[in-house]
Amino acid sequence: MGRILLVSGILFLVWMGYRFLNNTWSARVQEVERRARKKNTSQTKEVEQIRACTYCNVHIPENEGVYEQKHFFCSYQHLDQYNEHQKNTHNKQS
Ligand SMILES: [Zn+2]
Repeated sequence: MGRILLVSGILFLVWMGYRFLNNTWSARVQEVERRARKKNTSQTKEVEQIRACTYCNVHIPENEGVYEQKHFFCSYQHLDQYNEHQKNTHNKQS
C-alpha cells in the first residue's frame, strides 16, 4: 500500500512539473509571437508606401524599387530601359 502511494505521489509530482514547464513554455512562445507581431506591424507601417513603376506601371513597395531623380522604377532594368527609351525618342525628335 505504501509503495502505491509513493508511486502515485511521484507520478503526481512529475505531472505537476510537466504542467508547470508546459505553461512556462507556452507563455514564452506567446510572448515571442506577440513581439514578432508587433515588429511586423511596425515594419509594414514603414513599408506601406506603394508606388508605380514609371516604365511598366507595376505597383510595388517603395523600398523594393529604384529612384532616379523624380521617377520610380520596379528594377534597374526598367530604369535602364526607360532611359534608353527617352534617349531614342529624343534622338528621333532632333
Ligand atoms: Zn517596371
